[in-house]
Amino acid sequence: MTRTVAVIGAGPAGLMAAEVMQSHGAQVHVFDAMPSAGRKFLLAGIGGLNLTHSEAMPGFLARYAARAPALRPLLDAFGPDAVRAWAQSLGVKTFVGSSGRVFPTDMKAAPLLRAWLHRLRAGGDGRPPVQFHMRHRWLGWADDGAALRFANAEGEHVFAADAAVLALGGASWPRLGSDGAWVPLLQARGVDIAPLRPSNCGFDVAPTGPDRGGWSAHLRERFAGEPVKPVAITATDSAGVEHRQQGEFVVTETGIEGSLVYAFSAGLRDAIAARGRATLTLDLLPQHTPEQVRAETRHPRGTRSLATHLKSRLHLHGVKTALLHELLSPAQLNDPDALAGFIKALPLTLAAPRPIAEAISSAGGVRFEALSAGLMATAVPGLFVAGEMLDWEAPTGGYLLTACLATGRAAGQGVIDGWNAA
Ligand SMILES: Cc1cc2nc3c(=O)[nH]c(=O)nc-3n(C[C@H](O)[C@H](O)[C@H](O)COP(=O)(O)OP(=O)(O)OC[C@H]3O[C@@H](n4cnc5c(N)ncnc54)[C@H](O)[C@@H]3O)c2cc1C
Repeated sequence: MTRTVAVIGAGPAGLMAAEVMQSHGAQVHVFDAMPSAGRKFLLAGIGGLNLTHSEAMPGFLARYAARAPALRPLLDAFGPDAVRAWAQSLGVKTFVGSSGRVFPTDMKAAPLLRAWLHRLRAGGDGRPPVQFHMRHRWLGWADDGAALRFANAEGEHVFAADAAVLALGGASWPRLGSDGAWVPLLQARGVDIAPLRPSNCGFDVAPTGPDRGGWSAHLRERFAGEPVKPVAITATDSAGVEHRQQGEFVVTETGIEGSLVYAFSAGLRDAIAARGRATLTLDLLPQHTPEQVRAETRHPRGTRSLATHLKSRLHLHGVKTALLHELLSPAQLNDPDALAGFIKALPLTLAAPRPIAEAISSAGGVRFEALSAGLMATAVPGLFVAGEMLDWEAPTGGYLLTACLATGRAAGQGVIDGWNAA
């Protein structure tokens, strides 16, 4: 007898769960609040879809920090190589970029999503076509605690299924569909959830002077939107270990954002939550040694301005010089040795992470301790959970999509295994 399963959330996690269950002959119904599937996945393709990462498994797993042990079996079953093979099975070849990140050869998400949806809808070879129900917002459960409640243009209705997979995403970029509205619904059913927090996010700087809120008007008006590159950030994580990484970030109206900041964002966010502030240090000339910088700041500058001197001797100008003026006192700027020290290690204090709606991803979510090995909520038998709504986080670099696909696969397999065991 064909069993019916509801997948709620047509992002990468939900679609992967649907694919696994379809391949076992289940009749899969995918519901999503948005008019079309995979909106965030498509957005991820705008800047180049970073599907996964080529680094060896121990390093790859370590990106999931405290949640590496929980994700390990799932990533062993469906890791970076499996992600690439899966893309290839949809006619999308991938390549390893210079940073080790893996992208489709055309960098885009749309052809991959189109081929995937086509394969799911078509079915065949014992795979029933997946039925899609867009513009269906999940509202929770009917009074029997089992049937699923949805709202669509016609009103409210219920859907009864033999099992359900929730893949509702986190709470970043809510206009793409994931708004975290599921949190109270699951809490009411006794599912343990870590609070959703911004991950891979920007930060507001602490006021840079006694009479200022965040950046000065000068820095904000002249340099918001400017990239700072190359630059290295050094920051200490919650275990007290110092990390340094080189890259680039962008000065925003209120602080900083960009790939290099995201790499440090989990530790900085947690430090701010614990102590109200977090400080990182910027190396504005990462390719120069401290001695080289000191030799140039000591060089007599005659009648030239400091800005002209730094530009001609160290190629330090624009937003980097503006940051020095923003964060240092006149005495520090005019002391050649102190200035050299700050060029190599300029402290920048952060006051708050930017709101979760602006973040690339979410931390927090359904705790693994509330789930079986097959990702079923132990408090709600027959309800499985996958993707970013689970309590893990990782930096950008393809780690997010890989874990979404791996947990989607595990949840789909969990449904099938549960049925087979019954
Ligand atoms: C700008 C940007 C760029 C990114 N780039 C990358 C990248 O290059 N590489 C990478 O690995 N990751 C990237 N990510 C992260 C990645 O896109 C997400 O981690 C991933 O999409 C999460 O997948 P998911 O299936 O768990 O949830 P989502 O993709 O968020 O899908 C959840 C779905 O659930 C639906 N939904 C939510 N609530 C309800 C409800 N109540 N009823 C019905 N439907 C509902 C939503 O409409 C949505 O379609 C990027 C994210 C952003 C914002």
